[in-house]
Amino acid sequence: MQRILNYINGQFTEPESRAYLDNYNPATGEVYSLIPDSDAADVALAVQAAKAAFPSWSSLSREERSQHMLNVAKRISERLDELAEAESTDNGKPLWLAKKVDIPRATDNFKFFATAILHDSSELHDTDGLYLNYTLRQPIGVAGCISPWNLPLYLFTWKIAPALASGNTVVAKPSEITPMSAYLLSQICDEVGFPKGVLNIVHGLGAKVGSAITEHPEVPIISFTGGTETGKTIARTAAPMFKKLSLELGGKNPNIIFDDCDMENALKTSLNSSFANQGQICLCGSRMYIQRGIYNEFKTRFVEEVKRMKVGNPQSPDVKLGAVVSKPHFEKILSYIELAKEEGGTVLCGGKPVEAGMNGWFIEPTVIEGLTETCRTNQEEIFGPVVTLQPFDTEEEVLAYANGTKYGLASTVWTNDLTKAHRIAAHLHTGIVWVNCWLVRDLRTPFGGVKNSGVGREGGWEALRFFTEPKNVCIPLS
Ligand code: NDP
Repeated sequence: MQRILNYINGQFTEPESRAYLDNYNPATGEVYSLIPDSDAADVALAVQAAKAAFPSWSSLSREERSQHMLNVAKRISERLDELAEAESTDNGKPLWLAKKVDIPRATDNFKFFATAILHDSSELHDTDGLYLNYTLRQPIGVAGCISPWNLPLYLFTWKIAPALASGNTVVAKPSEITPMSAYLLSQICDEVGFPKGVLNIVHGLGAKVGSAITEHPEVPIISFTGGTETGKTIARTAAPMFKKLSLELGGKNPNIIFDDCDMENALKTSLNSSFANQGQICLCGSRMYIQRGIYNEFKTRFVEEVKRMKVGNPQSPDVKLGAVVSKPHFEKILSYIELAKEEGGTVLCGGKPVEAGMNGWFIEPTVIEGLTETCRTNQEEIFGPVVTLQPFDTEEEVLAYANGTKYGLASTVWTNDLTKAHRIAAHLHTGIVWVNCWLVRDLRTPFGGVKNSGVGREGGWEALRFFTEPKNVCIPLS
């Protein structure tokens, strides 16, 4: 059986403990590879390597750093098919989705930040002609990057690329549930001669490896994407150590559909925003608010389309939904569907596991109505193929519903009334608002959430600023 290895100081290494964890294929429910059960000892070695590599990496010219990163990007593109296959096997997502979105985006992340640094600049403040203040933006040191399982390589590279481009070295941990594409990335670094010790990848459990990275005194900056509870744990550790912290956390995103919308577009996109990647995208709209004038028509048509969505073998080109990522997650999603029924919800379609003939963890796309906006189903993140429908009458009412959770990541608004779109967007308590579209991602834009959805922003200059420390230098002119 294939064994994944850590990548420390440019070497493929066994965990110090020599212990391994099972890695499952969620479509078959079978163990198909083993991953290092690393711990603080491996993290210590990785940090040591990253620290040693920092002076040379941070003093390379921008062009040199950029070129190293572009070499990685090129090789990711060349190995697209293999990476997509690995991602689909590891995560359960449809192969076509990994080929079309996940892996190309990993290439784009590297390309984007590799070239962004060539165009970066910092500020100068002229103090009344008497003094000049200029801002140096300097790399910080060893950055800790911790990512989740839902978009494995996509989110792993979304952190690593700006950290490296800014001149930091990195100790990174992919989710233990989906480690394979990160392992292939370490092979790619090896193939292209990426400088040793600059990117170190340590595999294993969050409670061991993730916490060891967070607690390490020589890691002054942490970028984390994952669940809100894990984010709290990390913040508790990082805050008293005064670490720089970016937290991209959970969501419970509203999808607001006004009765003056373009119904065809809203329907088509809502199928995607509800169920893409089995609903396991932090940006999926899980609470659909539909204005009463079109509620019945929209609901009928939406449910008809959802019933037609094929769930099954992630390798098949015609499946819309593959397997959900793990057995515990499968059970969690099904328990929320049961909870929704207990809370008085009516399951309009779906709600059950799918026998895809593969022994894996498949769930029907599920649509529920009849719940209150304050019930647990509508307040807690399910992170699976489950959406709720609720009618509303007025703008004020729907804003209260939309803003009425502890989360604030993204929202979607469907209306053909331009001024209403602006008005609603301005009043939504989320870091991202899509109007008449969903998941359009321009890598230059600020990305992140408010409230329990996180602290800080990624993307574009925001990411480059996060991974650097601004220093003001003041010089008199006379
Ligand atoms: P988790 O919070 O469980 O895990 C995220 C990462 O943190 C994993 O690598 C995990 O390791 C690690 N980890 C776990 N415990 C600790 C710890 N104590 N210290 C440090 N690291 C730790 O999230 P999931 O992997 O379950 O991902 C799903 C969540 O991610 C959802 O809530 C989703 O909304 C959110 N998410 C947010 C996004 C955003 O941009 N806002 C984007 C995508 C997802 P291990 O795998 O071993 O547990």
